[in-house]
Amino acid sequence: MTKEEQAGKRLAKKENAKIAMDKKEAAKKKQALEIIKRLKIQYPDAGCTLDYNEAWKLLVSVRLAAQCTDARVNVVVEGLYKKYPSVETLAEAPVEDIEAIVKPCGLGHSKARDISACMKILKEQYGGNVPDQFEQLLKLPGVGRKSANLIMGDVFGKPAIVTDTHCIRLVNRMGLVENIKEPKKVEMALWKIIPPEEGSDFCHRLVYHGREICTARTKPFCEKCCLCDICGKNGV
Ligand code: SF4
Repeated sequence: MTKEEQAGKRLAKKENAKIAMDKKEAAKKKQALEIIKRLKIQYPDAGCTLDYNEAWKLLVSVRLAAQCTDARVNVVVEGLYKKYPSVETLAEAPVEDIEAIVKPCGLGHSKARDISACMKILKEQYGGNVPDQFEQLLKLPGVGRKSANLIMGDVFGKPAIVTDTHCIRLVNRMGLVENIKEPKKVEMALWKIIPPEEGSDFCHRLVYHGREICTARTKPFCEKCCLCDICGKNGV
């Protein structure tokens, strides 16, 4: 085989691989759209399960929610906001006092330290407001991609993919991603197949579905799942 023929063969192989990838992605997009459609019917009102009425409160709650249930966070923050009802008062609160209040959520010391530092930055750099840019959010203490996406989607109504434990488990089982467990990689894979405007609500619905049907601690209830015929059921 001549050098030209070898180069042509390599190119054809590359092109075929690309065509196969595109086909796979198109199939996943189609599957994702159908899943989105069905979950909308199943959970029409799915929203954030953390209670908040101001953007900064969601920032606080999402930090407290690490390794804690949303239900417990919703109770604990009531006491916190009673004592410190604004960004300014919370920014000036002694860290030990915040820690004493948020202790029931676990990891009290680091959560209190992050909340205090975060509120100070909001007060000093953003006039008490929460920034609406993803990169700015990511720079806040205790805010990772998951939290920043949650704020972008829920507070600012911008495209967002929140890769929490439910999302990661479900999209792998469904076959929307293939054995990807690292949150950022799952997020990047989902950006390719989920319409941006659907991402935030889709992830909220996955939480509901993950709690009620596609459970982690028991065998998932595939027989009563609205996605049974279109789910890959990987690892189930
Ligand atoms: S069919 Fe089973 S594995 Fe698939 S989403 Fe439903 S409960 Fe989960």
